[in-house]
Amino acid sequence: MSFESLGLHESLLQTVESLGYEQATPVQLKSIPIILEGRDIMAGAQTGTGKTAAFILPILHKLMSHQVNLKESDGSGDEIVSNERMPSEEGESVIIKALVLTPTRELAQQVYQSAVEYGKNTSVRSVVAYGGASINVQVAELKKGADVLVATPGRLLELIYKRVVNLRQLQVIVFDEADRMLDMGFMVEVQRILKSLPRTKQTLLFSATFNDEIHTLSKSLMNAPIYIEVGQKNQTAPKVEQRVYAIDNSRKRELVSYLIGSKNWKQVLIFTRTKQGADDLAKEMFKDGLKVQSIHGDKSQGARDRILTEFKDGVLRALIATDVAARGLDIPTIEQVINFELPYNSEDYIHRIGRTGRAGRSGVAISLVSPKEQYLLKDVEEVLGETLVQQWYPGFEPNLNEEEVSFKKHRSGASKKRAREKAIQSSKRTKRK
Ligand code: AMP
Repeated sequence: MSFESLGLHESLLQTVESLGYEQATPVQLKSIPIILEGRDIMAGAQTGTGKTAAFILPILHKLMSHQVNLKESDGSGDEIVSNERMPSEEGESVIIKALVLTPTRELAQQVYQSAVEYGKNTSVRSVVAYGGASINVQVAELKKGADVLVATPGRLLELIYKRVVNLRQLQVIVFDEADRMLDMGFMVEVQRILKSLPRTKQTLLFSATFNDEIHTLSKSLMNAPIYIEVGQKNQTAPKVEQRVYAIDNSRKRELVSYLIGSKNWKQVLIFTRTKQGADDLAKEMFKDGLKVQSIHGDKSQGARDRILTEFKDGVLRALIATDVAARGLDIPTIEQVINFELPYNSEDYIHRIGRTGRAGRSGVAISLVSPKEQYLLKDVEEVLGETLVQQWYPGFEPNLNEEEVSFKKHRSGASKKRAREKAIQSSKRTKRK
């Protein structure tokens, strides 16, 4: 269905048209009218479904209408300009109307860029703030005036405590990728932020997956929310072909380099579980003659931005990422995602493979599963609600007996469980910024 029927301002429709969006995506169709009505929503939508426009467009619409109303009550002209948002004076805090909270700086950047793009024919001003970058630059941007603030929780709290921003007149708050926000342990920060918000406001929660923790959070946050599901709960992105290769750990790197080289893949996203694993794999693949880089939280923001640009521009053939670093990446042209290792948190699998098959394109997600990782594959299948057929890649068949025997000898089921729990906990700790 087209955007025209959704009740958005003409200037937003023009923007959408100029971006070449012909049809609203399912999450946009369902969310936009409800958000315009002022209701709270809980939407099950992952990155790649067009969810950013699903909340940014109606927010822009509302802020524009608000500005026009103010103008009209002033009896002034018909040009849409904000006469409430002014550059703030020295020591004065900036009044924010709409807030988008994101778990990572990459996603914050991404959402901010979308807000600027979708708002280019309006006078609504958006600003972004996240940790790991100079707060002074962000404060200077905010002081020029901001209607929409896209921020990570930690940096937002700093801005609240320093009285740079004032959220008392907030109209809308969006929790983007709420599942990841909780997974990264941001609940305490979120609770603190909530104390700075007015009682009456609209709350929009977007999450790729839903679990009990999200439902508990939503109860404390929302007022009779409308549930929006696009497709099934915890569903993988449409049009992503999932392949699973059973392979020995020791031969994974060889197969990845072989696939990229022999099939001439040009923009491949590879996931490892750890930062060290990402760096080691990048070094080895580089020796195989492939231009690759790793990206993770230990790299400076400058280095991450540079690597991302190189990857987007096609200078790098593969990007090796941890789950956190890859969150929020919006590179619609990625056609192959490789799970070099399956994630400990099986819901991350859905986020990972959602990096491909974006906005209606097709994509392939390949998972390399060693005999030791079979239990992780079972967890993934449980989340997906389907069995993934395992294949052997000719020339890379696993030597099943050897690994299985040595594994059984070394680890009982209980110790395996403990090791995994430990890994999930430590990954949560290291993910937090
Ligand atoms: P998102 O799920 O917000 O990360 O969006 C994924 C990609 O889909 C982005 O590159 C958007 O530019 C694109 N997109 C969003 N809405 C539409 C639409 N209605 N038609 C085509 N592409 C879209």
